[in-house]
This record gives sequence, C-alpha cells and structure tokens, in this order.
Amino acid sequence: MIVARTISDVRAALADRRTGRIGLVPTMGALHEGHRALLDAARATCDTAAMSLFVNPAQFGEPADLNGYPRDEARDVEVARAAGVDVVFAPSAAEMYPAGYQTWVEVTELGAILEGEHRPGHFRGVSTVCLKLFNIVRPDVAFYGQKDAQQVEVLRRMIADLDVELELEVIPTVRDDDGLAQSSRNVLLSPEERARALALPRALSTGDPETARAILEGAGLAVDYVAIAPFHPPTLAAAVRVGSTRLIDNAPFDHEEES
Ligand code: AMP
Repeated sequence: MIVARTISDVRAALADRRTGRIGLVPTMGALHEGHRALLDAARATCDTAAMSLFVNPAQFGEPADLNGYPRDEARDVEVARAAGVDVVFAPSAAEMYPAGYQTWVEVTELGAILEGEHRPGHFRGVSTVCLKLFNIVRPDVAFYGQKDAQQVEVLRRMIADLDVELELEVIPTVRDDDGLAQSSRNVLLSPEERARALALPRALSTGDPETARAILEGAGLAVDYVAIAPFHPPTLAAAVRVGSTRLIDNAPFDHEEES
C-alpha cells in the first residue's frame, strides 16, 4: 500500500493503474466500521481502491470543532491496509489549499438548507474538497455513506451540474447493535451522553418529524433540526447536540412510503 502526501505522488501512484477501474473513498479519518463498509465496497468492485484521509478545514466553522476532531493517522493507515486499500492520499492542508487559494464550489440551494443552514459554508467546503479530490485521483467511482445524506444529495447535484464524469455509490449507514450510527465523533461522547444519543435513531425510526422532535427533546437533546428532507428518496433527517458533540442521522423513506 502506498501512502502519498502530495498531489504529484498520488498521481504517480495511480498512473499505471488507469486501465482498470479506480474507486475512491473520501474520509476524514478516525476510521470506524462505517468507513470500513465503504472500503470493502471499493475493494470488492474496483481494480484499485484509493482512500483519502484529510480533515478538511474548509468544511468546519468553529476552530474548536476542527481542532477537537479526532485524529489517529497511524491507526487509520493500518485499517486501510487491512481493508486492502492500494493507495492512501493523506495531504496536508497546505497541499490542498496553498497560499493564494481562492476558488470555491457552491451548490446554492441544496447546500443552504438543513445542515447548510446550521453550518454556513460547510457544503461549500465539502463540494470544493470533493471536486479537488475527484480531479486529483480521477476515480471512476466514489463511495459515500448514507449517514451523510445531504452530502450525497449536494454532491450528486454538483456532479450533474459541473459534468463530472464519475459514478457515485451510496453505502447504507452502519450502526452499533443498539442503533447508534457509527461516527468519528462518537468517541467524544461520555457514557451518559452516548446513552442519551440513542434517542436519535429511535426518534428517526418513527418516520414523523413531530413525534421525532418530542422524543429528542424528551431525552434532553438540543435539536438543530428534524425535518423531512427533499432528497431522493425523501428522508427524515436530524441534527442534535449532546453536550458539546453534534450528531446527525437520517432515515430514508422507502419507495412504498414515498408513494
Ligand atoms: P467522514 O470521515 O466522517 O467524512 O466520512 C467519510 C465517509 O464515510 C462519508 O461518505 C460518510 O458518509 C461515510 N460514513 C460515515 N459514517 C458512516 C456510517 N456509520 N455508515 C456508513 N457510512 C458512513
């Protein structure tokens, strides 16, 4: 497995692999079983499995959130190796955003609702870094998690609007046995907070925004939003704060419920 730190190194690592199918799994590290499901899908369906490992400063608002984001690169590299990844791209912030950087991608409507409303600039950062990763790696397919449903929706729009030649594969949300969606941020929860966070999947499983809100508030969670999002398919999506940790989750309506 090659760990490339620069754009020229990752391009060189991929140069003689372009005759086969290249899959990219973009991550911010602190890898868990959710990431592992994406890596497994890439490994199973592509000739080359590439993973990016980059905590993208442009998608964080609060400096404290960026600085507190869990990082464990040595472990992440081992997880990637065990998953059969061929190439890890782990650039510095200066490699991705050198001095003078000034170009941004904005998905104006889908990027402004729900998460976008509560985290201004978040999807601008996500769209920009993903387009950069697509241009750097030039994958045939990129793998994303349903866990971040709005991210998928925003990126689908960007890919269509900017004529990016890329398939996007969406992998179902991986959950712990008790229903909590796996997230890099879960390590920040105290045992008491983690127990309260279980109200999030429970609330979303009702399929009803008002019932869901009552369950979340009843559990003492601060609700940023809980709403039926205009995604494909429509999705009950929520963001809550448990102490100082912010968690998101969603439950897509299946096609029977949609009609
Ligand atoms: P992150 O490192 O949090 O940016 O996530 C990298 C990718 O993993 C994104 O496409 C996420 O949607 C996906 N992901 C994160 N958590 C999960 C999960 N519990 N199940 C499936 N995919 C996930």
